[in-house]
Amino acid sequence: MKWKDAVKIKEVGPRDGLQNEKTFIKTEDKIAWINHLSHSGLEYIELTSFVNPKLIPALGDAEEVVKGIDRVNGVTYAALVPNRRGLDRALEANIDEIAVFMSASETHNKENINKTIQETFPIIKETVKDSLSADKKVRGYISTVFGCPFEGKISIDAILRITDTLFEMGIYEISLGDTIGIANPKQVQEVLNELLKRYSTEKFAMHFHNTRGCGLANALTSLNMGITTFDGSLGGLGGCPYAPGATGNLATDDLLYMLHGMGIKTNIDEKKLLQAARYIQEKIGRQLPSHNMQVNQNKVCINQI
Ligand code: MG
Repeated sequence: MKWKDAVKIKEVGPRDGLQNEKTFIKTEDKIAWINHLSHSGLEYIELTSFVNPKLIPALGDAEEVVKGIDRVNGVTYAALVPNRRGLDRALEANIDEIAVFMSASETHNKENINKTIQETFPIIKETVKDSLSADKKVRGYISTVFGCPFEGKISIDAILRITDTLFEMGIYEISLGDTIGIANPKQVQEVLNELLKRYSTEKFAMHFHNTRGCGLANALTSLNMGITTFDGSLGGLGGCPYAPGATGNLATDDLLYMLHGMGIKTNIDEKKLLQAARYIQEKIGRQLPSHNMQVNQNKVCINQI
Protein backbone atom coordinates (compact mmCIF):
# COMPACT_ATOMS: atom_id res chain seq x y z
CA MET A 1 0.00 0.00 0.00
CA LYS A 2 1.23 3.48 -0.77
CA TRP A 3 -0.87 5.71 1.49
CA LYS A 4 0.68 9.00 2.53
CA ASP A 5 1.56 9.70 6.17
CA ALA A 6 -0.78 12.69 6.53
CA VAL A 7 -4.32 13.41 5.39
CA LYS A 8 -6.47 16.54 5.38
CA ILE A 9 -10.10 16.29 6.41
CA LYS A 10 -12.41 19.07 5.29
CA GLU A 11 -15.34 19.40 7.67
CA VAL A 12 -18.57 19.99 5.78
CA GLY A 13 -21.01 19.31 8.62
CA PRO A 14 -22.13 22.91 9.21
CA ARG A 15 -23.20 23.11 5.55
CA ASP A 16 -23.75 19.64 4.10
CA GLY A 17 -24.82 18.10 7.38
CA LEU A 18 -27.17 20.78 8.66
CA GLN A 19 -28.82 21.44 5.29
CA ASN A 20 -30.15 17.86 5.37
CA GLU A 21 -31.28 17.88 8.99
CA LYS A 22 -34.93 18.49 9.80
CA THR A 23 -34.17 20.30 13.06
CA PHE A 24 -33.38 23.99 12.59
CA ILE A 25 -30.31 24.84 14.60
CA LYS A 26 -30.37 28.31 16.07
CA THR A 27 -27.77 30.71 14.69
CA GLU A 28 -26.02 31.16 18.04
CA ASP A 29 -25.79 27.37 18.44
CA LYS A 30 -24.29 26.97 14.96
CA ILE A 31 -21.75 29.65 15.83
CA ALA A 32 -20.87 27.99 19.14
CA TRP A 33 -20.51 24.61 17.39
CA ILE A 34 -18.27 26.00 14.67
CA ASN A 35 -16.14 27.65 17.37
CA HIS A 36 -15.74 24.19 18.95
CA LEU A 37 -14.74 22.77 15.56
CA SER A 38 -12.23 25.58 15.02
CA HIS A 39 -10.35 24.51 18.14
CA SER A 40 -10.27 20.81 17.28
CA GLY A 41 -7.33 21.03 14.87
CA LEU A 42 -9.48 20.99 11.73
CA GLU A 43 -7.87 23.19 9.11
CA TYR A 44 -10.85 23.62 6.83
CA ILE A 45 -14.52 24.14 7.68
CA GLU A 46 -17.30 24.70 5.19
CA LEU A 47 -19.55 27.00 7.16
CA THR A 48 -22.70 27.43 5.14
CA SER A 49 -24.20 28.01 1.73
CA PHE A 50 -25.11 31.31 0.13
CA VAL A 51 -28.01 29.88 -1.84
CA ASN A 52 -31.42 31.48 -1.87
CA PRO A 53 -32.61 31.18 1.78
CA LYS A 54 -36.07 30.20 0.50
CA LEU A 55 -34.57 27.08 -1.09
CA ILE A 56 -32.61 25.98 1.98
CA PRO A 57 -34.14 27.65 5.05
CA ALA A 58 -31.80 25.64 7.33
CA LEU A 59 -28.93 27.80 6.07
CA GLY A 60 -30.88 31.04 5.77
CA ASP A 61 -28.62 32.66 8.37
CA ALA A 62 -25.42 32.37 6.27
CA GLU A 63 -24.28 35.96 6.80
CA GLU A 64 -24.85 35.88 10.56
CA VAL A 65 -22.96 32.60 10.90
CA VAL A 66 -19.94 33.70 8.86
CA LYS A 67 -19.76 37.06 10.61
CA GLY A 68 -20.50 35.63 14.06
CA ILE A 69 -17.80 32.98 14.46
CA ASP A 70 -14.42 33.51 16.11
CA ARG A 71 -11.85 32.91 13.42
CA VAL A 72 -8.88 30.82 14.41
CA ASN A 73 -5.54 31.29 12.69
CA GLY A 74 -4.68 28.45 10.35
CA VAL A 75 -8.31 27.48 9.72
CA THR A 76 -9.80 28.15 6.28
CA TYR A 77 -13.50 29.05 6.41
CA ALA A 78 -15.35 28.29 3.20
CA ALA A 79 -18.89 28.57 1.89
CA LEU A 80 -20.86 27.14 -0.99
CA VAL A 81 -21.90 29.63 -3.63
CA PRO A 82 -24.32 28.93 -6.51
CA ASN A 83 -23.86 32.07 -8.60
CA ARG A 84 -22.74 35.69 -8.72
CA ARG A 85 -25.43 36.82 -6.27
CA GLY A 86 -24.29 34.21 -3.75
CA LEU A 87 -20.68 35.19 -4.30
CA ASP A 88 -21.45 38.85 -3.57
CA ARG A 89 -23.03 37.83 -0.26
CA ALA A 90 -20.10 35.54 0.60
CA LEU A 91 -17.53 38.22 -0.19
CA GLU A 92 -19.46 40.79 1.81
CA ALA A 93 -19.30 38.40 4.79
CA ASN A 94 -15.54 38.08 4.17
CA ILE A 95 -15.41 34.33 3.61
CA ASP A 96 -11.91 32.86 3.10
CA GLU A 97 -12.66 30.47 0.30
CA ILE A 98 -15.42 29.72 -2.21
CA ALA A 99 -16.91 26.37 -3.23
CA VAL A 100 -18.95 25.93 -6.40
CA PHE A 101 -20.96 22.88 -7.39
CA MET A 102 -22.61 21.03 -10.22
CA SER A 103 -23.74 17.52 -10.96
CA ALA A 104 -22.21 14.97 -13.33
CA SER A 105 -25.75 13.86 -14.14
CA GLU A 106 -27.80 16.00 -16.50
CA THR A 107 -31.08 15.12 -14.74
CA HIS A 108 -29.73 15.63 -11.22
CA ASN A 109 -28.22 18.97 -12.22
CA LYS A 110 -31.56 20.05 -13.67
CA GLU A 111 -33.42 18.90 -10.55
CA ASN A 112 -30.94 20.65 -8.30
CA ILE A 113 -30.44 24.01 -9.99
CA ASN A 114 -32.88 23.92 -12.90
CA LYS A 115 -30.11 24.25 -15.49
CA THR A 116 -28.48 21.91 -17.98
CA ILE A 117 -24.81 21.11 -17.52
CA GLN A 118 -23.99 23.29 -20.52
CA GLU A 119 -25.97 26.18 -19.03
CA THR A 120 -24.19 25.76 -15.68
CA PHE A 121 -20.64 26.14 -17.01
CA PRO A 122 -20.83 29.92 -17.79
CA ILE A 123 -22.38 30.61 -14.36
CA ILE A 124 -19.56 28.77 -12.60
CA LYS A 125 -16.98 30.36 -14.90
CA GLU A 126 -18.13 33.85 -13.95
CA THR A 127 -18.21 32.93 -10.25
CA VAL A 128 -14.68 31.48 -10.39
CA LYS A 129 -13.31 34.45 -12.32
CA ASP A 130 -14.79 36.97 -9.86
CA SER A 131 -13.66 34.90 -6.85
CA LEU A 132 -10.11 34.74 -8.12
CA SER A 133 -10.18 38.50 -8.81
CA ALA A 134 -11.18 38.95 -5.16
CA ASP A 135 -8.21 36.76 -4.15
CA LYS A 136 -10.38 33.85 -3.04
CA LYS A 137 -9.46 30.31 -4.01
CA VAL A 138 -12.22 28.17 -5.47
CA ARG A 139 -12.99 24.54 -4.80
CA GLY A 140 -15.40 22.62 -7.01
CA TYR A 141 -17.87 19.89 -6.12
CA ILE A 142 -19.07 17.40 -8.66
CA SER A 143 -22.03 15.48 -7.32
CA THR A 144 -23.42 12.08 -8.40
CA VAL A 145 -20.00 11.04 -9.77
CA PHE A 146 -20.60 7.42 -8.81
CA GLY A 147 -24.27 7.21 -9.65
CA CYS A 148 -27.42 9.27 -9.95
CA PRO A 149 -30.88 8.58 -8.50
CA PHE A 150 -32.42 9.40 -11.89
CA GLU A 151 -29.88 8.22 -14.48
CA GLY A 152 -28.03 5.43 -12.71
CA LYS A 153 -24.38 5.05 -13.72
CA ILE A 154 -22.52 8.13 -14.95
CA SER A 155 -20.06 7.69 -17.83
CA ILE A 156 -16.41 8.38 -17.22
CA ASP A 157 -16.45 10.67 -20.29
CA ALA A 158 -19.07 12.86 -18.61
CA ILE A 159 -16.92 13.06 -15.45
CA LEU A 160 -13.75 13.86 -17.43
CA ARG A 161 -15.49 16.56 -19.44
CA ILE A 162 -16.70 18.37 -16.32
CA THR A 163 -13.40 17.89 -14.50
CA ASP A 164 -11.42 19.30 -17.44
CA THR A 165 -13.76 22.27 -17.78
CA LEU A 166 -13.68 23.13 -14.06
CA PHE A 167 -9.88 22.90 -13.83
CA GLU A 168 -9.55 25.11 -16.93
CA MET A 169 -11.59 27.77 -15.11
CA GLY A 170 -8.98 27.91 -12.32
CA ILE A 171 -10.57 25.70 -9.67
CA TYR A 172 -7.74 24.32 -7.49
CA GLU A 173 -9.39 21.13 -6.22
CA ILE A 174 -12.37 19.03 -7.18
CA SER A 175 -14.33 17.13 -4.58
CA LEU A 176 -15.78 13.99 -6.15
CA GLY A 177 -19.17 13.38 -4.59
CA ASP A 178 -20.91 10.08 -4.03
CA THR A 179 -24.10 12.01 -3.40
CA ILE A 180 -26.44 9.08 -2.82
CA GLY A 181 -23.90 6.79 -1.18
CA ILE A 182 -23.92 4.22 -3.92
CA ALA A 183 -20.18 3.81 -4.72
CA ASN A 184 -18.13 0.68 -4.08
CA PRO A 185 -14.33 0.36 -3.89
CA LYS A 186 -13.95 -1.15 -7.38
CA GLN A 187 -15.85 1.72 -8.93
CA VAL A 188 -13.83 4.28 -6.96
CA GLN A 189 -10.67 2.66 -8.27
CA GLU A 190 -11.96 2.74 -11.87
CA VAL A 191 -12.96 6.41 -11.75
CA LEU A 192 -9.76 7.52 -10.00
CA ASN A 193 -7.64 5.47 -12.39
CA GLU A 194 -8.98 7.52 -15.29
CA LEU A 195 -8.76 10.89 -13.54
CA LEU A 196 -5.23 10.27 -12.26
CA LYS A 197 -4.03 9.66 -15.81
CA ARG A 198 -4.64 13.38 -16.39
CA TYR A 199 -4.24 14.99 -12.98
CA SER A 200 -2.21 14.51 -9.81
CA THR A 201 -3.74 13.14 -6.60
CA GLU A 202 -3.57 16.58 -4.91
CA LYS A 203 -6.18 17.90 -7.33
CA PHE A 204 -8.92 15.73 -5.84
CA ALA A 205 -10.84 15.31 -2.62
CA MET A 206 -13.28 12.49 -1.99
CA HIS A 207 -16.77 13.17 -0.67
CA PHE A 208 -18.32 9.89 0.34
CA HIS A 209 -21.66 9.08 1.87
CA ASN A 210 -22.11 6.05 4.07
CA THR A 211 -25.71 5.39 3.08
CA ARG A 212 -25.04 1.74 2.27
CA GLY A 213 -22.08 1.21 4.58
CA CYS A 214 -19.30 1.54 1.98
CA GLY A 215 -17.99 4.94 3.09
CA LEU A 216 -14.80 3.85 4.86
CA ALA A 217 -14.05 1.13 2.31
CA ASN A 218 -14.26 3.76 -0.42
CA ALA A 219 -12.08 6.14 1.57
CA LEU A 220 -9.47 3.42 2.09
CA THR A 221 -9.47 2.61 -1.61
CA SER A 222 -8.87 6.29 -2.41
CA LEU A 223 -6.11 6.44 0.22
CA ASN A 224 -4.43 3.46 -1.41
CA MET A 225 -4.46 5.39 -4.68
CA GLY A 226 -2.66 8.34 -3.09
CA ILE A 227 -5.61 10.65 -2.31
CA THR A 228 -4.97 12.77 0.79
CA THR A 229 -8.02 15.02 1.08
CA PHE A 230 -11.41 13.82 2.32
CA ASP A 231 -14.65 15.55 3.16
CA GLY A 232 -16.30 14.51 6.39
CA SER A 233 -19.38 15.49 8.35
CA LEU A 234 -19.03 15.22 12.10
CA GLY A 235 -21.14 12.46 13.64
CA GLY A 236 -22.40 11.55 10.15
CA LEU A 237 -24.71 14.59 10.25
CA GLY A 238 -26.98 14.93 7.27
CA GLY A 239 -29.30 12.04 6.62
CA CYS A 240 -29.89 10.98 3.06
CA PRO A 241 -33.11 12.54 1.69
CA TYR A 242 -33.75 9.42 -0.44
CA ALA A 243 -33.48 6.95 2.43
CA PRO A 244 -35.03 8.14 5.68
CA GLY A 245 -33.09 6.95 8.71
CA ALA A 246 -30.01 6.08 6.67
CA THR A 247 -26.72 7.76 7.38
CA GLY A 248 -25.63 10.42 4.95
CA ASN A 249 -22.16 11.92 4.78
CA LEU A 250 -19.18 9.86 5.82
CA ALA A 251 -18.59 10.74 9.48
CA THR A 252 -15.47 12.77 10.23
CA ASP A 253 -15.04 10.92 13.55
CA ASP A 254 -15.25 7.45 11.96
CA LEU A 255 -12.76 8.45 9.27
CA LEU A 256 -10.48 9.95 11.91
CA TYR A 257 -10.58 6.77 13.99
CA MET A 258 -9.45 4.72 11.00
CA LEU A 259 -6.73 7.16 9.92
CA HIS A 260 -5.24 7.64 13.37
CA GLY A 261 -5.34 3.89 13.98
CA MET A 262 -3.32 3.46 10.78
CA GLY A 263 -0.77 6.00 12.00
CA ILE A 264 -1.86 8.63 9.47
CA LYS A 265 -1.67 12.19 10.85
CA THR A 266 -4.47 14.73 10.57
CA ASN A 267 -3.68 17.43 13.19
CA ILE A 268 -7.14 16.85 14.64
CA ASP A 269 -7.59 16.23 18.36
CA GLU A 270 -10.06 13.37 18.71
CA LYS A 271 -11.22 14.40 22.18
CA LYS A 272 -11.97 17.95 21.14
CA LEU A 273 -13.74 16.73 18.04
CA LEU A 274 -15.86 14.42 20.14
CA GLN A 275 -16.81 17.31 22.43
CA ALA A 276 -17.94 19.23 19.36
CA ALA A 277 -19.94 16.19 18.22
CA ARG A 278 -21.67 15.91 21.60
CA TYR A 279 -22.51 19.59 21.48
CA ILE A 280 -24.28 19.38 18.12
CA GLN A 281 -25.88 16.05 18.99
CA GLU A 282 -27.60 17.71 21.92
CA LYS A 283 -28.81 20.58 19.72
CA ILE A 284 -30.06 18.21 17.00
CA GLY A 285 -31.86 16.26 19.70
CA ARG A 286 -31.13 12.74 18.46
CA GLN A 287 -28.31 10.21 18.54
CA LEU A 288 -25.90 10.98 15.70
CA PRO A 289 -25.43 8.03 13.34
CA SER A 290 -21.62 7.74 13.25
CA HIS A 291 -20.23 4.48 14.64
CA ASN A 292 -17.92 6.42 16.88
CA MET A 293 -20.75 8.37 18.49
CA GLN A 294 -22.80 5.23 19.02
CA VAL A 295 -19.91 3.41 20.69
CA ASN A 296 -19.37 6.46 22.80
CA GLN A 297 -23.02 6.53 23.80
CA ASN A 298 -22.92 2.84 24.77
CA LYS A 299 -19.81 3.37 26.86
CA VAL A 300 -21.67 5.99 28.87
CA CYS A 301 -24.56 3.52 29.38
CA ILE A 302 -22.24 0.74 30.57
CA ASN A 303 -20.59 3.09 33.05
CA GLN A 304 -23.96 4.13 34.37
CA ILE A 305 -24.91 0.50 34.96
MG1 MG B 1 -22.63 15.25 1.10
